[in-house]
Amino acid sequence: MSVSPRMPALFIGHGSPMNALEDNATTQMWESFGTRFARPNAILIISAHWTTRGTAVTAMPAPKTIHDFGGFPQALFDMRYPAPGDPTLAARVAQLLSPLTPSPVVLDQTWGLDHGTWSVLVKMYPDASIPVVQLSIDLSQPAAWHFALGRQLALLRNEGVMIIGTGNVVHNLDRLNPRSEGYDWALRFNAAMRQAIQNGQFEQVIHYQDLGQDAALSVPSTEHFLPLLYVLGARTGEEPVAIVCDTMELGSISMMSVIIGTE
Ligand code: ZN
Repeated sequence: MSVSPRMPALFIGHGSPMNALEDNATTQMWESFGTRFARPNAILIISAHWTTRGTAVTAMPAPKTIHDFGGFPQALFDMRYPAPGDPTLAARVAQLLSPLTPSPVVLDQTWGLDHGTWSVLVKMYPDASIPVVQLSIDLSQPAAWHFALGRQLALLRNEGVMIIGTGNVVHNLDRLNPRSEGYDWALRFNAAMRQAIQNGQFEQVIHYQDLGQDAALSVPSTEHFLPLLYVLGARTGEEPVAIVCDTMELGSISMMSVIIGTE
């Protein structure tokens, strides 16, 4: 009987969809993730770009590539990430989460893989052979609830499932500034989150709004922040927590990425 190695949980700051086409320090790091860890049996991914009322999980055998953006080059719209789905894993996720969701988890047949997912995975696993399931983000629920869902999903890591959250710790598109190396509020908020994550003080991440105006400017809407909470929730015991990238792009996009569970 083969035993699956325990998979890490990753939070990946995804930034611009153009990373899918470009070759830069960020995308080279994503490429390195593809060989750094044992190859997962499946990937469960929580993307900032699938928000819902209620919770849904992609349950189709062949999810389509979704081009959920505008104003980018045709080459980006031409990209496909034809990874298979995993209906069995989707059903398992629905079953695991059902005690926590106010309404039944929807086994979705209409979504697919959005750019929060494929812009990263096309670099990590370019052959698109690992099954991928996406879990939606119920924006009607508070931060602590999303953390609790991550905790509930943690045991899947023992079954060869890699859990990935893809978003950005700081994400304010209204303040993008190519000449800025980071607004003061963005750098302060990012540093506070980095410290809390490194120290395992996840309550401080859940209660990020305690940081007042810095939080309000850094997280003007929650969808890019919440995927982080699933990943932190998926940590068990005193597993290692590593921050592997921590740059600020265009003044108000934090590219911080976090790896949980590898030495
Ligand atoms: Zn995004």
